[in-house]
Amino acid sequence: MFDNLSEKLDKALHVLKGRGQITEINVAETMKEIRRALLDADVNFKIAKEFTNKVKEKALGQNVLTTLQPGQLMVKIVKDELTQLMGGEAEEIDLSGNPTVVLMSGLQGSGKTTFSGKLANYLKKKKNKKPLLVACDVYRPAAIDQLHIVGEQVGVEVYSDRGNNDPVAIAKAGIKHAKENGQNVVIIDTAGRLAVDEQMMTEIANIHKAVEPQETLFVVDAMTGQDAVNTAKAFNDVLNFDGVILTKLDGDTRGGAAISIKSVVDKPIKFIGTGEKMEAIDVFHPSRMADRILG
Ligand code: GDP
Repeated sequence: MFDNLSEKLDKALHVLKGRGQITEINVAETMKEIRRALLDADVNFKIAKEFTNKVKEKALGQNVLTTLQPGQLMVKIVKDELTQLMGGEAEEIDLSGNPTVVLMSGLQGSGKTTFSGKLANYLKKKKNKKPLLVACDVYRPAAIDQLHIVGEQVGVEVYSDRGNNDPVAIAKAGIKHAKENGQNVVIIDTAGRLAVDEQMMTEIANIHKAVEPQETLFVVDAMTGQDAVNTAKAFNDVLNFDGVILTKLDGDTRGGAAISIKSVVDKPIKFIGTGEKMEAIDVFHPSRMADRILG
């Protein structure tokens, strides 16, 4: 459905670009189509309406109808507004803690463990930090193994305690370990279920309360369509998280999920995942995503 957003916006603007003469009527038609596309992508009515009103206002202000290439100008105006809709500027994570605690949340398979490794690598290489990864999935031994593999790949220590089935205790012990060993960022990878359930939410809420993270990040697979939005909402209701990580943007997905999620939870998207490798991480840039969505 998110690619639908891309397609619909594309189509709306294509019509405009294709017309020999652009009139107020086809601008109005285009705005209607854009608004419908945004509504279909879960952008709420008020925001969608504001969006098209702003585009219209700007188009009038810049005398779109009398410029040489009105279509191009319209696309630029829409692109600029989409950029604003997704937060405007890139927003990085808060590293002010001592140590900084980053709590990862999200469903199983969303890419949490992979992203934990990528983030550790990024912070080590780009921000000169000394991270520690902490394995708090007490249900799946394979998840702990996976975090160890990832940690080895990026040369970052992994704290785990296989005999312990209390994730809150492990998380706290991990932070203590970091303090004793000079690590200044603690990235806590948590258990994920295949669907939102109460036990999982209670567990992560308890970890959250106990470790008071500077950054609680919600990881979501950009390809999961409508589910991505519902899951984001469920996690945000419980955690009031600080930022979103959109993974698996290396495929054909064009990124409409960024708009939907941002409008539903109103939290910044901070990073994107663009592949399985540890280097496949990028700071989220709203303007680049707007380009991608418009195709
Ligand atoms: P977790 O269960 O949330 O910890 O998810 P994992 O980190 O185990 O990731 C689930 C699968 O998605 C793995 O096969 C990862 O290699 C893959 N994956 C994670 N991030 C990305 C990404 O950005 N792009 C692609 N193509 N695959 C990813």
